[in-house]
Amino acid sequence: MKEKLEQIQKAAIEQIVSVTTADELEAAKVKYLGKKGELTAILRGMGALTAEERPIVGQVANNVREAIEQAVSDKRALITAAEREKRFEKDKLDVTLPSKRRGLGRIHPITKTIYEARQIFLDMGFTIAEGPEIELVEYNFDALNAPKDHPSRDMTDTFYIDKLTVLRTQTSPVQVREMRANKPPIRIISPGRVYRCDPPDATHSPVFHQLEGLVVDKGVSMGDLKGTLDMFARKMFGPETRTRFRPHNFPFTEPSAEVDVSCFACGGKGCRFCKGEGWIEILGAGMVHPNVLESCGIDSHVYTGFAFGVGMDRVTILKNNIDDMRLLFENDLRFLSQF
Ligand SMILES: [Zn+2]
Repeated sequence: MKEKLEQIQKAAIEQIVSVTTADELEAAKVKYLGKKGELTAILRGMGALTAEERPIVGQVANNVREAIEQAVSDKRALITAAEREKRFEKDKLDVTLPSKRRGLGRIHPITKTIYEARQIFLDMGFTIAEGPEIELVEYNFDALNAPKDHPSRDMTDTFYIDKLTVLRTQTSPVQVREMRANKPPIRIISPGRVYRCDPPDATHSPVFHQLEGLVVDKGVSMGDLKGTLDMFARKMFGPETRTRFRPHNFPFTEPSAEVDVSCFACGGKGCRFCKGEGWIEILGAGMVHPNVLESCGIDSHVYTGFAFGVGMDRVTILKNNIDDMRLLFENDLRFLSQF
C-alpha cells in the first residue's frame, strides 16, 4: 500500500508540473485529492489494515497529500504569474503613439460679428444693456409709440405668449427699460435675439439678432447720430466706407432714416453684391420720438436722443459673402468650420 501511495504521489506531481492552465490544474487536483480522487480511495481502504499498519500507512498518506497540495499551490502561483504577464502584454500601452486629434470648437459667425460690433461701440464709450427675450407688450410696443393698429402688432407678425407678453420683436424694449431705470445721460448698446413670424428663407429667419443703440442727453442731434454710425461703418466695413441716410418712418423715432453703407465689395461703383446699387442697407435709425422719452419719464423739452438698430445676421452674411441666411441657423459643422 505504501508503494501504491508513492506511485500516486509521483504520478500526481508529474501531472501537476506538466499542466499549463488553471483549469487543468484544478482538474488534476480533483483527480488526486477530490472526494472521488485516487488518494481518497486508498485512504478509504485503510479499514482493512491491521492496527499496527494503520498509523504507518496513515503517516505516509498524509505526507503524500501534503506533497501533492504543495505541488498544486506552487503550480498555481506560477500559472497566476504567467497569466498576469500575458494580460500585461495584451494591454500594453504605447504612450509614445500620437493621440487622436479632437476638433476644436470655434465662435459662431454671428457671435463673431456681435463681438466685433460690440467692441466698436464700447470703444466709443457705450455700455452694454440687456433685457428679456420674453417681453411685455407695453415695452415692446406701447412705450415705443407703436399705434394700437400698427401692423407689427399683428399675430401674423408677432409671437404672442399671452395678451400681455410677446417674444420681443426688436431689441428696442431695452431702451424703455434703460430710460425708466436711469436718468440721462444714457449711452447704451443692446445686442440680442429677437423673434418674428417669418417663415425661414434665404433672407429671413423667425429668430435673428439685432444690436440696438441709444443715446439720450442734452443737445444730442442728428449730426451725432450720423457721426456715430459713420464711425461704426468705417470700423466694421473698412476705412473707405461711407453712409447714406434715406428718410423713413418708424413709430419710435422722428425723424427716422434707413441707413445704407457704400458697398464694401465694389466701393460704390455697383456690383452683383450690391445689386448694382453701390449701396447696401444695413440699419434703421432716428431721433428718439418725444412720446417715447415722455413715456419713460424723461422731459423731452430738456433732453433729446438718437437710437439705431443693426441686423447682425445681415451684417454677418454681407461681410462673409454668405448667400443664404438659413446656413447661419442650421449649425452644420461643415459650414461653420469655414469661419
Ligand atoms: Zn457693390
